[in-house]
Amino acid sequence: MRLEKESYVRIIENLHDGLYFVDKNRVIAYWNKAAEKISGFTASEVIGKSCSDDILAHVDSEGQRLCTGLCPLAATIGDGTPREAEVYMHHKDGHRIPVSIRVSTLTDASGHVIGGIELFTDISNQTTNALRVKELEKLALLDSLTQLANRNYIDRELRIKFEEKKRFNLPFGVLFIDIDHFKKFNDNYGHYLGDDVLKFVANTFVANARPFDLYGRWGGEEFIGLIPNIGASDLENLGNRMRHLVKNSYLTRDDKKLQVTISLGATIASENDTMDSLLKRADKLLYQSKTSGRNCLTIG
Ligand code: GH3
Ligand code: MG
Ligand code: MG
Repeated sequence: MRLEKESYVRIIENLHDGLYFVDKNRVIAYWNKAAEKISGFTASEVIGKSCSDDILAHVDSEGQRLCTGLCPLAATIGDGTPREAEVYMHHKDGHRIPVSIRVSTLTDASGHVIGGIELFTDISNQTTNALRVKELEKLALLDSLTQLANRNYIDRELRIKFEEKKRFNLPFGVLFIDIDHFKKFNDNYGHYLGDDVLKFVANTFVANARPFDLYGRWGGEEFIGLIPNIGASDLENLGNRMRHLVKNSYLTRDDKKLQVTISLGATIASENDTMDSLLKRADKLLYQSKTSGRNCLTIG
């Protein structure tokens, strides 16, 4: 298996452990998401600063400052030996967090030391607390009928996708999806069966999504798919695959097959897009699919 550079970036970015890189002068060059979460400092607040500037201000269990004297990262950059330690990191809000750190050197292609890497794990019980909060958060971010991401959740993820596109040039596409003639379905079969249809359509998306794709309920019988790392023709194929899958899904009631179709608008986020412009374009493309007879996808 060969991984693309983007895959490594994403893996590192989404590690459970905090991770940062420094150059030989201990100037911070990279700061992942977990590092932001554990320390309270965002990447933009620490990148370009020296970690000996007291920003993280590691101390040992006796409260001794490590940054100016006994910094394990500086020692490792100096002698090339990896180190492990338990230290207390300064949180942006002021308190100290116990972290277990592992440091090693960062080398270039020819093996020369060009800096250091520190991986740190939050060893306080804040982690369990954070997990609990996350669970609660999930409740507010999930659509209760379909168990898909709700509109707030999609909104947040879309913001992140734009950020990743800007920072790492990671492309992404959007599928705007709407069930065809759903009002008629409700009128014919009732709202409860309508709800069951919304659920199976949602489950079709989830069951067939690639690992990093996110499907959410935008409202009513409208859904959005956020599809990272994709080009136009693959997005078109993926959307059409979902369309075929939905068309071939059904509920059975009184020996009758109850089915629906979906229409889609598909588009790739471009350089100048905002959330608003991207969603408006996707919505327009969806409208074109509706006017061309429904059960189809329009890409643009
Ligand atoms: P089109 O093909 O143009 O999209 O037609 P449509 O009938 O699907 O579109 P329209 O916007 O006219 O109607 C949307 C319908 O979706 C109306 C509403 O009753 C139904 N709907 C919205 N939310 C829910 C829901 O949570 N449960 C059920 N059962 N129906 C819903
Ligand atoms: Mg609609
Ligand atoms: Mg509809």
